[in-house]
Amino acid sequence: MGHFSLTNNQDTIAALATPPGMGAIGVIRVSGPDAISMVNAIFKGTDLTLALSHTIHFGRIIENDMVIDEVLVSVFKAPNSYTAENITEISCHGSPYILTRVLNLIIQKGARLAKPGEFTMRAFMNGKMDLAQAEAVADLVAADSENARQVAISQMRGGFSSEIKKMREKLVHFASMVELELDFAEEDVEFASREELKKLVKELSDIISALLSSFMTGNVIKNGVPTVIAGKPNSGKSTLLNAMLNEEKAIVSELEGTTRDFIEDEIHIEGFAFRFIDTAGIREARDRIEQMGIERTRQKMREASVIIYMFDLSVENEDSINQQVSELERLSIPYIKAGNKTDVASPALLNSLESQPGFIFISAKFKENLDQLKVRLIDLLDLGKVSVGDTIVTNARHYESLFKAKNALREVIDGMEKQASGELLAQDIRQSIYYLGEITGEITNEDLLENIFSKFCIGK
Ligand code: GDP
Repeated sequence: MGHFSLTNNQDTIAALATPPGMGAIGVIRVSGPDAISMVNAIFKGTDLTLALSHTIHFGRIIENDMVIDEVLVSVFKAPNSYTAENITEISCHGSPYILTRVLNLIIQKGARLAKPGEFTMRAFMNGKMDLAQAEAVADLVAADSENARQVAISQMRGGFSSEIKKMREKLVHFASMVELELDFAEEDVEFASREELKKLVKELSDIISALLSSFMTGNVIKNGVPTVIAGKPNSGKSTLLNAMLNEEKAIVSELEGTTRDFIEDEIHIEGFAFRFIDTAGIREARDRIEQMGIERTRQKMREASVIIYMFDLSVENEDSINQQVSELERLSIPYIKAGNKTDVASPALLNSLESQPGFIFISAKFKENLDQLKVRLIDLLDLGKVSVGDTIVTNARHYESLFKAKNALREVIDGMEKQASGELLAQDIRQSIYYLGEITGEITNEDLLENIFSKFCIGK
């Protein structure tokens, strides 16, 4: 691995690993050659420098004979730690004042404050994980739905990486065979069977294509589905929104005793997060509809991945409905036609609409049929058949590299069809190997690393 100026493994780094603010405990994490001795210098209890790896020690943090806090210190010894360096983690009482003070003491002993993601970056630099795995650590920390969690943890555990590495190795083998032929140019030998190479490249292209098309799902899993509830004023948009959000709130607060943050304006269906956008607009719509104008409503709808379009069945007729549907069609965004207020709708209208495909009949006010609406959301986006056990690309950087790798593989095929020279062939294979290597970090550069790790939390 190269030497990067943004990391110096001789440094011992320290950071608060728990969120800023008051908590029951706060954890300070220290990593580097002097992580144990520096903490030992401010610790009264057992001698930490003699402690075995993976042990926890009760004691006091001392400054000039004054007891600052009673703490637990965990000791991990190189290379058997997250970063592969010596690590200590001090669990203090969770007062921001105490934590700052203890952190300052460690800095005084010679540690420096860690940059965002620097612990994970060291784990990467020291070969504890590859780049895709390191990125998955950040995804796991940010996971806010069941599917996001599953995909991130599988990637962190190396599922995605091993798929990429397998492909890469096969190509490396072929590239070296083709290159070997070049050394015997006069003899006109063929170490690498062109038939087999073609078969392999096709096979790999198919795998990459599948990965590329999983990105749409991956994006949904990672970022949620931007969802808009639209419809004329009074059609019941805010009633529906409140009904769905209150249900979600009820589910969340069933986790008794937890104070988990409730994510405003988001619901979860089968592990996918649906984010309602422009909920402020919905809530204010009735008073402001004049100023808002149709154009703005359209704009909001265009930002959506799916639209729930509400019809007030107590006032609409078939003509007015068809007119709105044809406007919806023009947006080319998946939508659900939600016929609302079934409790007061005319049976005749209901009857005639029932023959229209894609209508869901609900009563937002009485929470009728909301489950069916949710099922439709999943169906509409084809999420029902997604298996999070499959490898799914969730990262735009990986998508880009896969895309380039696939293009390079197409060049290989083209080259073979045009009887291109071994040199050209080898070059194109090497190119695809390069792009695959970008994903796992075999190929990397300082800017890229800086970019990736600066998005991490401090202390991770
Ligand atoms: P918005 O302007 O589209 O946000 O509509 P609202 O959600 O504010 O609803 C407008 C009116 O319709 C309110 O008085 C609601 O109580 C009422 N409403 C909403 N859903 C239903 C329903 O399913 N049945 C009936 N009878 N009234 C409803």
